[in-house]
Amino acid sequence: MTKIVFEQWHQQAAFHNPLKGGELDHQDIQVRVDPLTGHQSIFNGALEDKVSILFPDTDHVYAAERASETLKTCFLCEGRWKQTTPRYPSDLIPDGRLVRGETVLFPNLFPLAARHAVVMVGNQHFRELSDFPPALLQDALSAAMDFIARCHAGDPEMAWFTINANYLPPAGASVVHPHLQVLGSPRPGTHHQLLIEASRDHHSKHGTCYWLDLVDTEWAEGARSIAAVGDSRWLTAFSPVGVNEVNAVWTHREHFLQWTEDDVKAMAEGLSGMLRAYHELGCSTFNFSCFSGALGASTPGFRCMLRLVSRQNLMPHHRTDDYYFQKLLRNEIIVRRPEVLAERFRKYLDRGM
Ligand SMILES: [Zn+2]
Repeated sequence: MTKIVFEQWHQQAAFHNPLKGGELDHQDIQVRVDPLTGHQSIFNGALEDKVSILFPDTDHVYAAERASETLKTCFLCEGRWKQTTPRYPSDLIPDGRLVRGETVLFPNLFPLAARHAVVMVGNQHFRELSDFPPALLQDALSAAMDFIARCHAGDPEMAWFTINANYLPPAGASVVHPHLQVLGSPRPGTHHQLLIEASRDHHSKHGTCYWLDLVDTEWAEGARSIAAVGDSRWLTAFSPVGVNEVNAVWTHREHFLQWTEDDVKAMAEGLSGMLRAYHELGCSTFNFSCFSGALGASTPGFRCMLRLVSRQNLMPHHRTDDYYFQKLLRNEIIVRRPEVLAERFRKYLDRGM
């Protein structure tokens, strides 16, 4: 094992603060650097009890209105998916779509990659984040894994896959109805490639796997570890790329073809618990991406990993949470310290819950 070093440094801002009667105020800004990618996030303690300025509460009346308005024209509801959604050619999927329980996988009408599937997550049009049951997510993820295996069997060049989600418009979703998106391409995308290359570099330099080193270091120190669920380890990100970021690492899995149903179940249980934790924080939207190494190949030093983040809450005329600081400068603001989040989130993956 190589112990991971979590680099942080501080800078100070000074100004006469009208909120403190015009006195000279000194604010400490902590900068955290991700040990693998170098991604920087900042934490200013002055913001710690002012999260509601950046992330006003979900407007539940507005949420109910949006759900009811969009239900009428939803192409997935009331079984309409059977007529409205595209189908894959029968050599890839004999019935054109994959159905698991209440979940259905079908092609995205406007694909962003050679393989781009959508998975309808249940018949219910709108869900609070407290209402994504593990069994439902397991069906959806299981369909995604089946699709990925079929894509690779049909064309071994299709080696780079991610499983993703946008939930609700502030998180980029164009439809309210819960759904996942599976992307598959002959080459990895930008962040995917960065993870693979940085993992490979760590392996070349230290002879160990970054992700196992990360889990070992985090579990030895304990401040950001949340829980083990099957083979997966859930933790908060030291230097998050998004709000309230939770990560998971599958410690024995380099790529999706190695996953068993137990691994899928672990992802479903972990996501379900962490979405309940988000709900308790007052969040109503999320994104996640789960990354795989190249299918059927060895990717030295890599393990399947997931990033889950919350986004701006559902409310009229919401302010985006992704502006120049994130989108162009590629930093992130830590609105709640990862150590505080981990402490709050542990009970949601306690098997007694
Ligand atoms: Zn719907």
